[in-house]
Amino acid sequence: MYVAGVDVGSTATKAVVLNDGKLAGKHVMPTGTDHVKTASACLDAAVRAAGDLISRDLAYVVSTGYGRAMVDIADKTVTEITCHARGARAFVESAHVVVDIGGQDSKVIRLDEDGMVADFVMNDKCAAGTGRFLEVMAERLDVPLSDFGKMSRAARKRAMISSTCTVFAESEVISLLSHGVGREPIIRGLCDAVADRLVGMVHRVGLAPDVVMTGGVSQNDGVRLSLERKLALRVIVPSMSQYAGAYGAAVIAQESAAKGR
Ligand code: ADP
Repeated sequence: MYVAGVDVGSTATKAVVLNDGKLAGKHVMPTGTDHVKTASACLDAAVRAAGDLISRDLAYVVSTGYGRAMVDIADKTVTEITCHARGARAFVESAHVVVDIGGQDSKVIRLDEDGMVADFVMNDKCAAGTGRFLEVMAERLDVPLSDFGKMSRAARKRAMISSTCTVFAESEVISLLSHGVGREPIIRGLCDAVADRLVGMVHRVGLAPDVVMTGGVSQNDGVRLSLERKLALRVIVPSMSQYAGAYGAAVIAQESAAKGR
């Protein structure tokens, strides 16, 4: 039985197809402005990746994410908090705290023993502590985001970024560059600044191992390292971390389809 989860994020749309509970196909693409079209195109690409199957053969589709209500192909919509929790638990059985850093928001979710959402906090008011913050800085530094991990790791010291506001932090970066401060310590400082925001949120829900990072920014190893240092705890990044929401939605689709049978 084929089912799917579609996560329409503010920045990226992800789709996952499961066949009898096992990963069959996945796809990620920029969300753009037409959510309905993007969701459908992303799901089609994940279906194609799953093999020679057409969309109408899907037994159940669950949509999640910021644009979930606009997915006309979905049988059900579920919040991204629930889907990230389910996805993170499916990836890492011992997950108790999920740190999800997306393009324009970040969330920290605490899970109970059964993997259900016990508590969560969300930052969707301000770009600090989100992927957008790092994208702005990457542009300013003229360094691809994919290099942030290795450059943060290579930094012998870090530059202090004291502003939490993206606009002021950007001015700080410009000023540091003009004073001859290298890109590596600046990137380490930026990763620390993002981690600082998230650490505060983790303590609000309660720290409990294991901590799992999801969302696109989890692929930035510099942020993971900063978070690990500040929490003094291992932070696990599953290989499909950006797909956690879509994967969780697909797991729920699997359960819903099984119940309906
Ligand atoms: P959303 O669901 O909020 O749309 P995602 O969780 O898909 O967002 O994450 C999108 C963010 O992840 C973007 O800000 C993007 O810059 C960042 N991102 C994606 N891939 C990478 C990567 N390889 N390294 C660092 N950051 C990345």
